[in-house]
Amino acid sequence: MKALVKSQAKPGLWLEEVPVPEPGINDVLIRVLKTGICGTDLHIYDWDAWAQATIPVPLVIGHEFVGEIVAVGSNVNDFHAGEIVSGEGHVVCGRCRNCLAGRRHLCAHTSGVGVNRPGAFAEFIVLPMTNIWRHNPSIDLDVAAIFDPFGNAVHTALEFPVLGEDVLITGAGPIGIMAAAVVRHAGARYVVITDVNSSRLKLAEKMKVTLALNPKEMSLTDAQKKLGMQEGFDVGLEMSGNATAFRDMIANMSHGGRIAMLGIPSQEMSVDWKQVIFNMLTIQGIYGREMYESWYKMTVMLESGLDIRGVITHRFSWKDYEKGFTAMRSGESGKVILDWRQP
Ligand code: NAD
Ligand code: ZN
Repeated sequence: MKALVKSQAKPGLWLEEVPVPEPGINDVLIRVLKTGICGTDLHIYDWDAWAQATIPVPLVIGHEFVGEIVAVGSNVNDFHAGEIVSGEGHVVCGRCRNCLAGRRHLCAHTSGVGVNRPGAFAEFIVLPMTNIWRHNPSIDLDVAAIFDPFGNAVHTALEFPVLGEDVLITGAGPIGIMAAAVVRHAGARYVVITDVNSSRLKLAEKMKVTLALNPKEMSLTDAQKKLGMQEGFDVGLEMSGNATAFRDMIANMSHGGRIAMLGIPSQEMSVDWKQVIFNMLTIQGIYGREMYESWYKMTVMLESGLDIRGVITHRFSWKDYEKGFTAMRSGESGKVILDWRQP
């Protein structure tokens, strides 16, 4: 089969012919239909320090996908050929304390699809049946292909109650923008999103945020004044990984405000902890998706009118993967989809 392989320990990604993976007795073999490109894939492509320390070479990469089941192992009874599915990108151990308690998103020994084990940028992928999410047939295939990052957005956005609250999102990348749509759907009053990239702010505006602002042009204090807010944001979703954005957020939270942090800082960052203490802020780190509550919520929110299609800005054939990575790198994109259906 054709696959995008990190086959050399240097920048780049190579389209190669590799064997179709064999499903074990507990596995599901899936024909990949569409995939999404994630920032993680860009790190692997560019072969940065994180990728060098993490990725075994050679490896088929990619973890955002939708596909169709073509075969199941002999132990698999409740998945069938023809079903449209996505895969949860974290394969958990099943044996640690958290796994045994049903808190699989807190597994101590997670293995990442397309990071630690073979991924989805290929014509076929094999995953354990415990990692399969069967899609409701009403779900758009492009949206199904990005359930993984959509799940990051949902996990973060719903970590704290947002009904009637004023929400600040720092970082209008694809995940920040999807999170904005989610908190809107979940009944937030004001949704303010920040970014330093004007095309991303424009994309966020299309998704109907209250205010999309560049913090270099308007301060969050002025934004609060403009909206008639008195005491700061109730809920913060950090989705930039940027230290200045995070400090700005801390300084603009209401007393007792709650922050969910998804963005991954590239290095250590300092914070004025006095603001956290005196203002009694809660800061919650977020990793991955809840298995499978985030997946359930994604589905039912789409069924009840949430529309995230606007975050998808580019669609290419798998053969044009370089164009997809260029679009991702440009910063002028939201989500980029590769279609694997044409041979
Ligand atoms: P992205 O890189 O596309 O988006 C980040 C955005 O933050 C960019 O648009 C960038 O311009 C913006 N930004 C930079 N400096 C800023 C500043 N000072 N103020 C406001 N915005 C600023 O990433 P994404 O795919 O949308 O993901 C969001 C974040 O979540 C990334 O940091 C990513 O690494 C992280 N992530 C974490 C998990 C997890 O499980 N914790 C999973 C996926 C992604
Ligand atoms: Zn575990």
